[in-house]
Amino acid sequence: VVNNVNSINECYLPPTGYWTDGINPCVPDWTFGGSHITAECITVDDPPPNPPGDNGGDNGNGNSTDPGNPTNQTDTALTNIMRDHCLTDGQLNLLNQTVNDYISGQGDQVSRCIHKAIYLKMKANNKIGFCVDSITYANVAGNGLYNPVSKTLFWKSGLGVGHVPLFGHEYFHAFQDAHYTNGIQQYGNVGFPNIEFEQALFYDLINGSEHATAMGIYAPQEVVDEYRSWLTTITNADEKFPKQFSDFGGWYFHFLGLFYQHSSYQNHGSIDNNLKPNALLSIFSSINCK
Ligand SMILES: [Zn+2]
Repeated sequence: VVNNVNSINECYLPPTGYWTDGINPCVPDWTFGGSHITAECITVDDPPPNPPGDNGGDNGNGNSTDPGNPTNQTDTALTNIMRDHCLTDGQLNLLNQTVNDYISGQGDQVSRCIHKAIYLKMKANNKIGFCVDSITYANVAGNGLYNPVSKTLFWKSGLGVGHVPLFGHEYFHAFQDAHYTNGIQQYGNVGFPNIEFEQALFYDLINGSEHATAMGIYAPQEVVDEYRSWLTTITNADEKFPKQFSDFGGWYFHFLGLFYQHSSYQNHGSIDNNLKPNALLSIFSSINCK
């Protein structure tokens, strides 16, 4: 089920896990066809397994009503969040597994709790499209992107479909698009760093301050340390999530500025000084995952 192999570009270079290490050598393009998209570069190590007939399986939880553990092909977590698609049967099967892995948290209870909350908010009225398209987005360096105009998550190669962190990143953009009145297209320039920093901060909060990667690999160590130290403080050493803007202790826009200055999203668009990370806060405040 590895499709569009010819489209694999330098973003797919091994070694292992450079996204999670914050290493991001690709320089995404920030506009396409006049509309803002958010394109991400990520390494895919190996074509993910795709057992024939696997409809998502079960990760050990016997609760058959769990959206992460669908029991039939017509009512899976994927079908609950998907408006339409352009995927092959194999890619669809792989995406089904990716969505199940995303919702299950892949063994991490906090991720499971958070991802299920996003899933539940999206499945009612915010179904999106999924598509592998190596041609339309040929000039976009990222391997995954979310287009807020077509409300579709794209991969440039079938290889990306099985990558859960890539899905989580782009699906958070879809969630932001649903959360903010009039969507995130309006933040294609002014507000672009806000949208990407919110995404990066969201996963840094989930994954823990000591692993925080939002500042990227080229930031001076003191910037990374200052950011991680802030996360430690506002989460009471990873014990809790910020639930209202005041929980950021007055430093949110300071670190957004450092993100704009140092991260792999450096100098793209400009900061909106009035745009707070309300999509992130809405999740953390609506459910007590930590
Ligand atoms: Zn992004």
